Amino acid sequence: MISLDDKKALVTGGGRGIGKAIALRLAEAGCDVGLCDIDLATAEETARLVEEKGRAALAVGCDVSDGAEVGSMFKAFTEKFGGVDILVNNAGITRDALFIRMKEADWDAVLSVNLKSAYLCCKEASRLMMKARSGKIINISSVIGLTGNIGQANYASSKAGLIGLTKSLARELAARNVTVNAIAPGYIQTAMTDNLPDEEKEKFLSLIPLKRLGTPLDIANSVLFLASPLADYITGKVLTVDGGFVI
Ligand code: NAD
Repeated sequence: MISLDDKKALVTGGGRGIGKAIALRLAEAGCDVGLCDIDLATAEETARLVEEKGRAALAVGCDVSDGAEVGSMFKAFTEKFGGVDILVNNAGITRDALFIRMKEADWDAVLSVNLKSAYLCCKEASRLMMKARSGKIINISSVIGLTGNIGQANYASSKAGLIGLTKSLARELAARNVTVNAIAPGYIQTAMTDNLPDEEKEKFLSLIPLKRLGTPLDIANSVLFLASPLADYITGKVLTVDGGFVI
């Protein structure tokens, strides 16, 4: 069993899907968990489930692409928990369109929510972690950041950008014993992927050697590993969790 007893974790976009599964998995391993989401009601529901597992929780409504809101969210989190041991940058959106038709607003929205958010949250967390001389930062990227995808130039750029951020920050924070890694999920069954056309889903499935779509728990388990002492000597890495989609 991996034990993270009394560690303080912060998960962005923890209201549903992968973020919710991560929050609950970390709580099962012993973490107190702070959750933020642009949809406060969903974050509150995840917080309730964390508390049901016997751990402390805090839900904050926050748009992670807004520096002032991220600042207030970290203030609320540190007032309640005293510090942050684990940061999971998970919040993300898609605004798909063929590049030729991609609107500037859709480019900006995706880059802000998926990439600028990680800059903002890492900045707040790294100050605290450097002082504590320990910490784990985990950025949720995507296999699309490695392969690119038709109709997802904005999303792929944001997720590839997260990998560049991960590697740079890993180098900068290593001397303070803070590790920074990314997870690149493949096709995971959540609301984000629910509305893809059936042909698209079939196409992905045919390209997955393990012959099944991923679950939020598959990703939560890999976050748990990277957040644990088992991964103390791993930094600057991208762990693809995709049933073998990218080999
Ligand atoms: P989801 O849409 O089910 O959940 C995303 C969560 O982020 C939601 O609760 C949403 O309210 C929140 N959110 C959105 N914008 C926000 C903002 N501005 N501020 C705060 N919270 C915000 O998506 P998911 O499938 O659970 O994806 C989670 C992460 O995993 C995303 O970063 C996504 O890009 C990544 N990912 C997902 C898949 C997949 O197949 N589902 C694959 C690879 C990577």
